[in-house]
Amino acid sequence: DGLIWFDGEMVPWRDAQVHVLTHTLHYGMGVFEGVRAYETVNGPGIFRLQEHTDRLFRSAHIMNMTIPFTKEQVNEAQLAAVRENNLPHAYLRPMVFYGSEGMGLRANNLKVHMIVAAWEWPSYMTPEAKEIGIKVRTSSYTRHHVNITMCKAKANGNYINSMLALNEALSCGAEEALLLDPEGYVAEGSGENVFIVYKGKIYTPELTSCLDGITRATVITLAQELGYEIIEKRITRDEVYVADEAFFTGTAAEVLPIQQLDGRVIGSGKRGPITEQLQKLYFDHVMGRTDK
Ligand code: PLP
Repeated sequence: DGLIWFDGEMVPWRDAQVHVLTHTLHYGMGVFEGVRAYETVNGPGIFRLQEHTDRLFRSAHIMNMTIPFTKEQVNEAQLAAVRENNLPHAYLRPMVFYGSEGMGLRANNLKVHMIVAAWEWPSYMTPEAKEIGIKVRTSSYTRHHVNITMCKAKANGNYINSMLALNEALSCGAEEALLLDPEGYVAEGSGENVFIVYKGKIYTPELTSCLDGITRATVITLAQELGYEIIEKRITRDEVYVADEAFFTGTAAEVLPIQQLDGRVIGSGKRGPITEQLQKLYFDHVMGRTDK
Protein backbone atom coordinates (compact mmCIF):
# COMPACT_ATOMS: atom_id res chain seq x y z
CA ASP A 1 0.00 0.00 0.00
CA GLY A 2 0.88 3.62 0.19
CA LEU A 3 1.25 6.16 -2.57
CA ILE A 4 3.83 6.61 -5.28
CA TRP A 5 4.53 9.93 -6.95
CA PHE A 6 4.20 9.17 -10.67
CA ASP A 7 4.67 11.90 -13.29
CA GLY A 8 3.35 14.58 -11.01
CA GLU A 9 0.51 12.74 -9.26
CA MET A 10 0.24 10.58 -6.18
CA VAL A 11 -0.90 7.15 -7.35
CA PRO A 12 -1.90 4.17 -5.17
CA TRP A 13 1.00 1.69 -4.94
CA ARG A 14 -0.76 -1.06 -6.95
CA ASP A 15 -1.74 1.32 -9.76
CA ALA A 16 1.80 2.64 -10.26
CA GLN A 17 2.49 0.31 -13.19
CA VAL A 18 4.30 0.37 -16.50
CA HIS A 19 3.82 -1.55 -19.74
CA VAL A 20 5.91 -4.64 -20.56
CA LEU A 21 7.28 -2.71 -23.54
CA THR A 22 8.72 -0.01 -21.31
CA HIS A 23 11.93 0.90 -23.13
CA THR A 24 14.07 1.06 -19.97
CA LEU A 25 13.01 -2.47 -19.02
CA HIS A 26 14.54 -3.71 -22.29
CA TYR A 27 17.68 -1.62 -22.66
CA GLY A 28 18.40 -0.36 -19.15
CA MET A 29 18.71 3.33 -20.00
CA GLY A 30 17.45 5.15 -16.94
CA VAL A 31 18.75 6.97 -13.89
CA PHE A 32 17.83 6.90 -10.25
CA GLU A 33 18.65 7.99 -6.73
CA GLY A 34 18.66 6.39 -3.31
CA VAL A 35 17.73 8.88 -0.61
CA ARG A 36 16.98 8.60 3.09
CA ALA A 37 14.53 10.50 5.26
CA TYR A 38 15.14 10.54 9.00
CA GLU A 39 12.99 11.47 11.95
CA THR A 40 15.37 14.13 13.16
CA VAL A 41 15.32 16.14 16.37
CA ASN A 42 13.72 18.93 14.32
CA GLY A 43 11.04 16.65 12.79
CA PRO A 44 11.04 14.59 9.60
CA GLY A 45 13.75 15.56 7.16
CA ILE A 46 15.29 14.29 3.95
CA PHE A 47 19.06 14.05 4.25
CA ARG A 48 20.92 16.01 1.54
CA LEU A 49 17.77 16.37 -0.57
CA GLN A 50 19.20 19.03 -2.89
CA GLU A 51 22.43 17.06 -3.45
CA HIS A 52 20.47 13.97 -4.48
CA THR A 53 18.24 15.99 -6.80
CA ASP A 54 21.28 17.67 -8.34
CA ARG A 55 22.95 14.29 -8.91
CA LEU A 56 19.77 12.89 -10.50
CA PHE A 57 19.76 15.77 -12.98
CA ARG A 58 23.49 15.31 -13.67
CA SER A 59 22.97 11.57 -14.23
CA ALA A 60 20.09 12.31 -16.63
CA HIS A 61 22.19 14.90 -18.47
CA ILE A 62 25.00 12.35 -18.95
CA MET A 63 22.44 9.90 -20.35
CA ASN A 64 21.03 12.68 -22.56
CA MET A 65 17.61 12.26 -20.96
CA THR A 66 15.59 15.38 -20.17
CA ILE A 67 13.69 15.20 -16.92
CA PRO A 68 10.31 16.85 -17.63
CA PHE A 69 10.17 18.49 -14.19
CA THR A 70 12.10 21.25 -12.47
CA LYS A 71 14.48 20.56 -9.60
CA GLU A 72 11.98 22.26 -7.28
CA GLN A 73 9.24 19.88 -8.45
CA VAL A 74 11.56 16.90 -7.93
CA ASN A 75 12.39 18.10 -4.41
CA GLU A 76 8.71 18.57 -3.69
CA ALA A 77 7.90 15.10 -5.10
CA GLN A 78 10.30 13.54 -2.59
CA LEU A 79 8.90 15.58 0.30
CA ALA A 80 5.36 14.58 -0.77
CA ALA A 81 6.28 10.88 -0.97
CA VAL A 82 7.47 11.00 2.66
CA ARG A 83 4.66 13.22 3.92
CA GLU A 84 1.75 11.51 2.21
CA ASN A 85 2.91 8.05 3.20
CA ASN A 86 3.43 9.23 6.74
CA LEU A 87 6.94 7.81 6.76
CA PRO A 88 9.34 9.97 8.72
CA HIS A 89 11.97 7.22 8.55
CA ALA A 90 12.14 6.17 4.92
CA TYR A 91 14.19 5.16 1.95
CA LEU A 92 13.25 7.02 -1.22
CA ARG A 93 13.70 5.91 -4.76
CA PRO A 94 13.37 8.58 -7.43
CA MET A 95 13.69 6.99 -10.87
CA VAL A 96 13.67 8.40 -14.40
CA PHE A 97 12.90 6.08 -17.29
CA TYR A 98 11.75 5.90 -20.89
CA GLY A 99 8.17 4.95 -21.70
CA SER A 100 6.73 2.36 -24.09
CA GLU A 101 6.17 4.67 -27.08
CA GLY A 102 8.79 2.89 -29.16
CA MET A 103 11.10 -0.12 -29.28
CA GLY A 104 14.62 -0.54 -30.55
CA LEU A 105 17.71 1.52 -29.96
CA ARG A 106 16.69 4.09 -32.56
CA ALA A 107 13.37 4.95 -30.94
CA ASN A 108 13.23 8.74 -30.85
CA ASN A 109 9.69 9.34 -29.73
CA LEU A 110 10.17 8.15 -26.16
CA LYS A 111 8.62 10.01 -23.27
CA VAL A 112 10.65 10.45 -20.11
CA HIS A 113 8.75 9.43 -16.99
CA MET A 114 9.58 9.80 -13.35
CA ILE A 115 8.50 8.14 -10.14
CA VAL A 116 9.34 8.61 -6.49
CA ALA A 117 8.58 5.67 -4.21
CA ALA A 118 9.16 5.69 -0.45
CA TRP A 119 9.17 2.81 1.97
CA GLU A 120 10.54 1.82 5.34
CA TRP A 121 13.91 0.19 4.83
CA PRO A 122 15.70 0.32 8.16
CA SER A 123 19.04 -1.24 7.28
CA TYR A 124 19.96 -4.38 5.47
CA MET A 125 22.78 -4.89 7.93
CA THR A 126 22.21 -6.19 11.43
CA PRO A 127 23.12 -3.99 14.40
CA GLU A 128 26.02 -6.43 15.05
CA ALA A 129 27.35 -5.81 11.53
CA LYS A 130 27.44 -2.09 12.26
CA GLU A 131 29.52 -2.84 15.33
CA ILE A 132 31.79 -5.68 14.30
CA GLY A 133 31.88 -5.08 10.58
CA ILE A 134 31.19 -7.26 7.57
CA LYS A 135 33.07 -9.79 5.51
CA VAL A 136 33.91 -8.55 2.05
CA ARG A 137 35.17 -10.30 -1.03
CA THR A 138 37.12 -8.78 -3.91
CA SER A 139 35.05 -9.22 -7.02
CA SER A 140 36.03 -10.69 -10.35
CA TYR A 141 33.79 -8.03 -11.92
CA THR A 142 35.43 -4.68 -12.50
CA ARG A 143 34.12 -1.15 -12.20
CA HIS A 144 34.96 0.68 -15.40
CA HIS A 145 36.09 4.27 -15.60
CA VAL A 146 34.00 5.12 -18.61
CA ASN A 147 31.42 3.74 -20.94
CA ILE A 148 28.51 1.84 -19.42
CA THR A 149 29.64 2.43 -15.87
CA MET A 150 30.15 6.16 -16.03
CA CYS A 151 30.94 7.03 -12.50
CA LYS A 152 29.25 10.39 -12.37
CA ALA A 153 25.89 8.85 -13.31
CA LYS A 154 23.76 6.75 -11.03
CA ALA A 155 22.42 4.85 -14.00
CA ASN A 156 20.33 1.69 -14.08
CA GLY A 157 22.76 -0.11 -16.41
CA ASN A 158 25.63 0.22 -13.92
CA TYR A 159 23.91 -2.05 -11.47
CA ILE A 160 24.19 -5.17 -13.61
CA ASN A 161 27.85 -5.16 -12.60
CA SER A 162 27.01 -4.41 -8.97
CA MET A 163 24.49 -7.24 -8.79
CA LEU A 164 26.84 -9.76 -10.37
CA ALA A 165 29.57 -8.71 -7.95
CA LEU A 166 27.28 -8.88 -4.93
CA ASN A 167 25.84 -12.27 -5.91
CA GLU A 168 29.36 -13.59 -6.34
CA ALA A 169 30.40 -12.29 -2.90
CA LEU A 170 27.28 -13.74 -1.24
CA SER A 171 27.85 -17.12 -2.85
CA CYS A 172 31.39 -17.09 -1.40
CA GLY A 173 30.01 -16.55 2.11
CA ALA A 174 30.80 -12.82 2.26
CA GLU A 175 28.31 -10.03 2.86
CA GLU A 176 29.47 -7.46 0.32
CA ALA A 177 31.71 -7.17 -2.72
CA LEU A 178 34.67 -4.90 -3.36
CA LEU A 179 35.03 -4.01 -7.01
CA LEU A 180 38.37 -3.08 -8.53
CA ASP A 181 38.89 -0.80 -11.50
CA PRO A 182 40.25 -2.23 -14.79
CA GLU A 183 43.83 -1.62 -13.61
CA GLY A 184 43.28 -3.48 -10.38
CA TYR A 185 42.96 -0.55 -7.98
CA VAL A 186 40.16 -0.47 -5.44
CA ALA A 187 37.03 1.23 -6.77
CA GLU A 188 34.04 0.72 -4.46
CA GLY A 189 31.46 -1.70 -3.08
CA SER A 190 28.38 -2.80 -5.02
CA GLY A 191 26.53 0.25 -3.68
CA GLU A 192 28.99 1.94 -1.34
CA ASN A 193 32.16 3.99 -1.38
CA VAL A 194 35.15 2.65 0.52
CA PHE A 195 37.61 4.19 2.99
CA ILE A 196 40.67 2.86 4.81
CA VAL A 197 42.51 4.19 7.85
CA TYR A 198 46.29 3.74 8.07
CA LYS A 199 48.51 5.26 10.75
CA GLY A 200 45.88 7.83 11.68
CA LYS A 201 45.24 9.06 8.14
CA ILE A 202 42.13 8.33 6.12
CA TYR A 203 42.33 7.26 2.48
CA THR A 204 39.64 6.82 -0.16
CA PRO A 205 39.84 6.19 -3.91
CA GLU A 206 39.70 9.31 -6.05
CA LEU A 207 36.57 9.86 -8.13
CA THR A 208 37.72 8.09 -11.27
CA SER A 209 36.07 4.71 -10.87
CA CYS A 210 33.53 5.16 -8.11
CA LEU A 211 30.28 7.01 -7.74
CA ASP A 212 30.55 10.53 -6.35
CA GLY A 213 28.83 9.43 -3.17
CA ILE A 214 26.92 11.93 -1.09
CA THR A 215 27.71 9.97 2.10
CA ARG A 216 31.38 9.90 1.02
CA ALA A 217 31.40 13.70 0.71
CA THR A 218 29.62 14.05 4.07
CA VAL A 219 32.07 11.74 5.84
CA ILE A 220 35.06 13.54 4.29
CA THR A 221 33.77 16.86 5.64
CA LEU A 222 33.03 15.42 9.07
CA ALA A 223 36.48 13.80 9.28
CA GLN A 224 38.22 17.00 8.18
CA GLU A 225 36.31 18.96 10.80
CA LEU A 226 37.65 16.53 13.38
CA GLY A 227 41.13 17.33 12.12
CA TYR A 228 41.85 14.13 10.19
CA GLU A 229 43.82 14.22 7.00
CA ILE A 230 41.85 12.73 4.10
CA ILE A 231 43.83 11.54 1.13
CA GLU A 232 42.09 10.73 -2.14
CA LYS A 233 44.34 8.41 -4.10
CA ARG A 234 44.56 5.09 -5.84
CA ILE A 235 44.40 2.25 -3.32
CA THR A 236 45.57 -1.32 -3.89
CA ARG A 237 43.90 -4.34 -2.37
CA ASP A 238 47.09 -5.00 -0.38
CA GLU A 239 46.66 -1.62 1.26
CA VAL A 240 43.19 -2.69 2.37
CA TYR A 241 44.54 -5.99 3.76
CA VAL A 242 47.11 -4.17 5.92
CA ALA A 243 44.96 -1.17 6.85
CA ASP A 244 44.23 -0.45 10.50
CA GLU A 245 40.55 0.06 9.71
CA ALA A 246 38.27 -0.01 6.69
CA PHE A 247 34.67 0.99 6.16
CA PHE A 248 31.99 1.55 3.52
CA THR A 249 29.78 4.60 3.17
CA GLY A 250 26.45 4.96 1.36
CA THR A 251 22.93 6.23 1.77
CA ALA A 252 21.67 2.69 2.39
CA ALA A 253 24.74 1.31 4.22
CA GLU A 254 25.43 4.57 6.10
CA VAL A 255 28.86 4.02 7.75
CA LEU A 256 29.61 0.32 7.80
CA PRO A 257 32.85 -1.21 9.14
CA ILE A 258 34.66 -3.86 7.08
CA GLN A 259 35.93 -6.69 9.22
CA GLN A 260 37.71 -8.76 6.63
CA LEU A 261 38.60 -8.69 2.98
CA ASP A 262 39.15 -12.02 1.21
CA GLY A 263 39.55 -13.77 4.57
CA ARG A 264 42.25 -11.33 5.77
CA VAL A 265 41.19 -9.73 9.03
CA ILE A 266 41.60 -5.96 8.91
CA GLY A 267 43.24 -4.33 11.92
CA SER A 268 41.89 -5.58 15.23
CA GLY A 269 39.03 -7.48 13.54
CA LYS A 270 36.39 -5.21 15.02
CA ARG A 271 35.20 -1.70 14.33
CA GLY A 272 38.22 0.58 14.69
CA PRO A 273 38.19 3.76 16.81
CA ILE A 274 38.16 6.21 13.90
CA THR A 275 35.40 4.27 12.13
CA GLU A 276 33.39 4.29 15.35
CA GLN A 277 33.92 8.01 15.82
CA LEU A 278 32.85 8.80 12.25
CA GLN A 279 29.91 6.40 12.41
CA LYS A 280 28.61 8.06 15.56
CA LEU A 281 29.13 11.53 14.15
CA TYR A 282 27.37 10.56 10.92
CA PHE A 283 24.30 9.33 12.80
CA ASP A 284 24.29 12.46 14.96
CA HIS A 285 24.54 14.51 11.80
CA VAL A 286 21.67 12.84 9.89
CA MET A 287 19.47 12.96 12.99
CA GLY A 288 20.15 16.67 13.37
CA ARG A 289 21.89 16.23 16.72
CA THR A 290 24.82 18.36 15.58
CA ASP A 291 24.58 22.02 14.68
CA LYS A 292 25.55 21.51 11.02
N1 PLP B 1 28.67 3.62 -5.09
C1 PLP B 1 27.62 3.07 -5.71
C2 PLP B 1 27.85 2.17 -6.87
C3 PLP B 1 26.32 3.32 -5.24
O1 PLP B 1 25.27 2.76 -5.84
C4 PLP B 1 26.14 4.15 -4.13
C5 PLP B 1 24.79 4.43 -3.63
O2 PLP B 1 24.14 5.30 -4.07
C6 PLP B 1 27.25 4.71 -3.52
C7 PLP B 1 28.52 4.42 -4.03
C8 PLP B 1 27.13 5.62 -2.34
O3 PLP B 1 26.57 6.85 -2.74
P1 PLP B 1 25.68 7.71 -1.76
O4 PLP B 1 26.51 7.94 -0.54
O5 PLP B 1 25.41 8.95 -2.51
O6 PLP B 1 24.46 6.92 -1.46
